[in-house]
Amino acid sequence: MRYYSTRGEAEKMKAAQAILKGLAPDGGLFVPADRLKPYATNNLPEGSYQDLAKTVLKPFLADFSDADLESTIHNAYNIHTFDHQTVTPLIKLSDQLHILELWHGPTCAFKDIALQILPHFINTALAKNNKNNEVVILTATSGDTGKSALEGFRDVPGIRIIVYFPEKGVSEIQKLQMITQEGRNVGVCAVKGNFDDTQKRVKQIFNDQELAAQLQEAGYSLSSANSINWGRLLPQIIYYFAAYQELIRQNSLQPGQKVNFVVPTGNFGNILAGYYARQLGLPVNRLICAANRNNVLSDFINSGIYDSRRQFYNSLSPSMDILVSSNLERLLFEITGHDAKRISVWMKQLTEAGQYQVDHATLEKLTELFWSDYADDDETLTTIADTYQDFNYLLDPHTAVGKNVLDKYLGQGKEQCPSVILSTASPFKFPSSTIRALFNSERFNGVTELEMIKIMGRETGIPVPHNLATLDQMPIRHQKVIKPKEMYSHLLQTLAVK
Ligand SMILES: *Cc1c(COP(=O)(O)O)cnc(C)c1O
Repeated sequence: MRYYSTRGEAEKMKAAQAILKGLAPDGGLFVPADRLKPYATNNLPEGSYQDLAKTVLKPFLADFSDADLESTIHNAYNIHTFDHQTVTPLIKLSDQLHILELWHGPTCAFKDIALQILPHFINTALAKNNKNNEVVILTATSGDTGKSALEGFRDVPGIRIIVYFPEKGVSEIQKLQMITQEGRNVGVCAVKGNFDDTQKRVKQIFNDQELAAQLQEAGYSLSSANSINWGRLLPQIIYYFAAYQELIRQNSLQPGQKVNFVVPTGNFGNILAGYYARQLGLPVNRLICAANRNNVLSDFINSGIYDSRRQFYNSLSPSMDILVSSNLERLLFEITGHDAKRISVWMKQLTEAGQYQVDHATLEKLTELFWSDYADDDETLTTIADTYQDFNYLLDPHTAVGKNVLDKYLGQGKEQCPSVILSTASPFKFPSSTIRALFNSERFNGVTELEMIKIMGRETGIPVPHNLATLDQMPIRHQKVIKPKEMYSHLLQTLAVK
């Protein structure tokens, strides 16, 4: 498989190059250039998640040898990285309702699935391209991504990772997760101000040609672990197939029968992987795109108008608080039959005017497969409480948005088939929302998030994930707090460049 850009100006590349570059030189995103060949769905390997991963990844990574593939998969998905043997367990709530838990990795959120394997893709790609430079992954984070990237890249040879986070802009747990990070090649630093201040400075560093030359000279090249990298999207296709196989194994489904997948969506990466799974032969009925109050995506899917010019809300599902969903560009490219010209026009309108409208035929294609609605914070909390009462199952606020939107979909009397909700975080990762939903929240005034986790575990009887339960015993390793303008000198100092 080779890759080219959604904007049509970049030449075709092998997977290793596309993964190393991340973003295409014309500003577009890398997508498969050759026809996708559906897998024979009844013929997928019966064995482990790792066996399935090999089958799914192989055609997409044609320039990786079998040994490369096996070692990347083994390094990413093993008993030390994921606390469940099947990596992504499927929980049955009823015959028609299943939860795919994507949060059994080191940071208890779904980004681990991609970020545990991406560093090994990069490491393998570096070897293939005879790059001797050390790669420096630079990330500004407002929460989940930073910790997940740190865990993925720690101690991977040939790579360093430096994460900047806003001192007051992340939750108590997210901050603790980052400042206790272990690893010989990691840097973590708090920055005064809000997320925008940090991110602006990181973007400036990436665009600084003089700095790039200086780093090059010293043997470093900068890169990002951004969610638009094809190497982050690709591993997400695997669990859609894993869920389907598990449904058949549990006798909840006959081979060939269709299912709905419900996806709590932000940057459109997770749900786009579901689209590719369907193109690869998976019997999908609907992909249900669940948004929170920042409902730019549900408006788009229902009207064909993408309008980012609106108020931004901080919701209880912060990882979905996004107004520009980058990966949507890939979907539009696919459903317009790879029409790079049209995509370039729309993306230009989005940058310049903050909005674009797709044509009628494109909207029709979109709504054949996708359905979308949103849930506000009150609905999110009610859904957590109701689901706990009805099924004795505890949802985190992101997954609760998914459940609420599925109920709205089913309420329309649509055709009935089993549904799988993709659960994107452990409820213990967002304890204050969960506690607000379940208990009289005044009881918890002044209680720290770490204490809340313990109380939640005690009162629900649900085991607290090990990595969160032991967070308060981890020594603090990264205490530095700097001003945004000090980020340049901090970077150079960390890399010992003068
Ligand atoms: C990142 C994230 C999402 C959104 O996923 P996208 O691929 O960006 O759509 C949803 N829930 C959680 C917990 C996340 O961390």
